Amino acid sequence: MSLADRLAEVDGRIADAAHAAGRDPSELTRIVVTKFHPASLVDELYGLGVRDVGENRQQELSRKVVEVGDRDGLTWHFIGQAQTNKARAIRAAAAVVHSLDRARLADALHAAAEPGRPVLDVLLQVNLTDDPGRGGVAPYDLVALAEHTAELPSLRVRGVMAVAPLDEPPAPAFARLRALSDALRTVVPDADWISAGMTADFAEAIAAGATHLRIGSAITGPRPQRG
Ligand SMILES: *Cc1c(COP(=O)(O)O)cnc(C)c1O
Repeated sequence: MSLADRLAEVDGRIADAAHAAGRDPSELTRIVVTKFHPASLVDELYGLGVRDVGENRQQELSRKVVEVGDRDGLTWHFIGQAQTNKARAIRAAAAVVHSLDRARLADALHAAAEPGRPVLDVLLQVNLTDDPGRGGVAPYDLVALAEHTAELPSLRVRGVMAVAPLDEPPAPAFARLRALSDALRTVVPDADWISAGMTADFAEAIAAGATHLRIGSAITGPRPQRG
């Protein structure tokens, strides 16, 4: 199957899952995760109409943004664990950060704001597992992180993000994320984005209310070895 065929096939499955959940597919943003693939793949995707791409490592993101260059309407999403000393580079490259999971990172991203540049959209990543080594704020710390981040004028809190745990079915985990989205909106009422759903579980994420899907291998094919 060609890239165009895989993209069309996934978009068809997204539309089916949306309809099954009584939702309009146009409410969903499909982000194509291009990590480990060359910048030329982003060019190809752009030619196929893709306008949202995701990367999980800062260096790879920064390099590809330069290689791909200016493309009207193209939005880069940063979805990986972020070190505070990379905040400036992340902010320079991405329009949306899905992986804000601690106050120090919020402070670093805010401190990296350049005058006159747009506000940075951020999602608060929640850890849905019991393993503190996975990225994300613990659910019971989400509201405090939201309160802290909402005070930083160069950041706009848009919603929550999570990766489904490996050791439980995705549906109950995404149901918890949905409840956490409700909790976030008690602090930031318009922060209604829910970034969830990957190749293996995007239908379950759509059923649970996801608004932003992060889909890699189903569209790009298998990832090359980490370079
Ligand atoms: C790689 C990655 C994805 C996409 O994974 P696939 O299983 O290839 O769809 C989504 N979210 C995050 C945070 C990732 O690192």
